[in-house]
Amino acid sequence: MVNKLNGIMLALALLPAVASASHWGYEGIESPEHWAELNKDWEQCQKGQNQSPVDIRQTFQAHVRPLKTFYTSSPDLLLNNGHTIQATWSDEDKASYIKLDDEKFTLRQFHFHAPSENTVNGKHYPLEMHLVHQDDDGEVAVVAVMFETGAVNAELEKLWQVMPDHADKSSQLPIKIDVNKLLPSDKTHWRFTGSLTTPPCTEGVRWVVLKHPLTVSAQQLEKFTSVMHHANNRPVQKLHGRMILE
Ligand SMILES: [Zn+2]
Repeated sequence: MVNKLNGIMLALALLPAVASASHWGYEGIESPEHWAELNKDWEQCQKGQNQSPVDIRQTFQAHVRPLKTFYTSSPDLLLNNGHTIQATWSDEDKASYIKLDDEKFTLRQFHFHAPSENTVNGKHYPLEMHLVHQDDDGEVAVVAVMFETGAVNAELEKLWQVMPDHADKSSQLPIKIDVNKLLPSDKTHWRFTGSLTTPPCTEGVRWVVLKHPLTVSAQQLEKFTSVMHHANNRPVQKLHGRMILE
């Protein structure tokens, strides 16, 4: 038993060297064009044919059904994971959800990218928020909200006041966040299928990109980019025949 334990301890001691091969980022050898080389489980990042983000340019009138949001609970934690700032719900909290394709997707977390990952006619917005939802089978639906520079965003400010300024730090959220105030009142949107925009770049993700942006002040934007130290957007990916519906 002692020998076996020693063996486990040895294996654990060796782990960090192996695990460091799976760091990823947005710059240098860890940048998006290298993600597939960093870990064999991330090959979709290179081989996938339904990857995100995308440039929204040619769209098809399909009269997509309105997005129905039922956001009633507040996230309890704000995390700086070194890749983004993320607000997270506890696993037990399933009170906030959307209805998409007559299916219920529970809101798990939302996070931010600057500049935006998806683009519209080749144009980046300065900030994009991703609300990440999951159904009971683990299928993922992301609702994306764009921000343009303008007036201070009051709801965002509640988060920004407690933004953890170093990677792997988190803050308990002292006040309630109303996610509905982080959505435009007009929820018309584009629909397409895509992937996670970070490793392992898993496909089969339902994307809903809201057409109407909110505002973020220049100072709020500056706070996010200075805490992140660098842009955290993956470049747009080829559509490979996918259609963007509206
Ligand atoms: Zn994202």
